[in-house]
Amino acid sequence: MMRFLRALFGAGAPAADEAIHLYVRCARCGTIVHVRVDPRNELLLEFDDSGMPAGYRLAKEVMDARCFRLMRADIQYDRTRRERDRSIDGGTFVTREEYERQQSAATPRSGA
Ligand SMILES: [Zn+2]
Repeated sequence: MMRFLRALFGAGAPAADEAIHLYVRCARCGTIVHVRVDPRNELLLEFDDSGMPAGYRLAKEVMDARCFRLMRADIQYDRTRRERDRSIDGGTFVTREEYERQQSAATPRSGA
């Protein structure tokens, strides 16, 4: 099945498990937002003083759907794309479990 999908989408398509998933809670209204990041498109290569690749950086703006306040996540990775550091402005990082708990507690979405 996996082989068929790869053939269907071509070799250039990112595998589903390469995505980075962020879960951030808005500091103002408490809404948790799930953000899916495609590392191939959104990770920026950074260089050290000698011009050698030092690692990657992800600068992501996140907005929740309740109070529409903008949060800014900033995550740094080493050259093997392992996370080194993360910070966020206007919110906090939470776990996927916390996100799913909030989703199951929320009323069903109307429309969308
Ligand atoms: Zn909010």
